[in-house]
Amino acid sequence: MKKDIFDEIIGYLQELQGQTKTTFIAPEIVNELFTDIQAAPKTVATPAPAPPIQASAPASLFAEPADPAIAALMSLDELNLSAQKCQKCVLCKERKTVVFGEGSPSADLMFIGEGPSYDEDQQGRPFVGEAGELLTKMITAMQFPREQVYITNIVKCRPPKSRNPLAEEANLCLPYLQRQIELIKPKVIVVLGAIPLKYLLNKTGIMRARGNWDSYSGIKVMPTFHPAYLLRNPEAKREVWSDLQQVMQLFGKMHKK
Ligand code: URA
Repeated sequence: MKKDIFDEIIGYLQELQGQTKTTFIAPEIVNELFTDIQAAPKTVATPAPAPPIQASAPASLFAEPADPAIAALMSLDELNLSAQKCQKCVLCKERKTVVFGEGSPSADLMFIGEGPSYDEDQQGRPFVGEAGELLTKMITAMQFPREQVYITNIVKCRPPKSRNPLAEEANLCLPYLQRQIELIKPKVIVVLGAIPLKYLLNKTGIMRARGNWDSYSGIKVMPTFHPAYLLRNPEAKREVWSDLQQVMQLFGKMHKK
């Protein structure tokens, strides 16, 4: 398997770790790394296990619908418990698990994808398949541990054959995401691809939107390509890395250009 941009950055960061306490990557070094990508075995970071659902929660919580007014009153754990029993749309029929999201409940950085695929549905965790491995590398290259960010999706249940979620499914699921954002209060949201761009920001045209700061409820949003798109179009990793560097700058992880 060929090393990609993110492997190169991660390798560079690992080298730096022994040398300095505060790591940042100067843009000129990053650009050098881009140009010299060698064949090497694939490295995969192991994400932290998802927090367990509390079986002792009041039974009434399990009955709550994803009604926006009710969802607005819930804590993150309550919201998760409610989502686990959600039957608001047809996606509940074929799901194995409800993939609510995972990461730090006080994350400064949040990633939003489309919806669970096969692996995520099997494991009940977001971004654990091939696209997830790439997302984990992207996050690591940004100098964030995966468990320190929050990762979720527009829909919490896998659409059949992993098709795009329908508008009705996305809109019925949106109160969960809105409340997740409200509770976690990230400083920055990275939207991964056209589906979250459409349903979170009400915009089309990921090609045009990517790399340009947007906002949602006063929170800065950076749209970029979905990791699954990058698996099909590896040359677009360069553009994604440039989008992610803008996010890193905001967190003081890089020199300003
Ligand atoms: N693709 C997504 O959009 N989300 C996941 O959780 C996995 C793959």
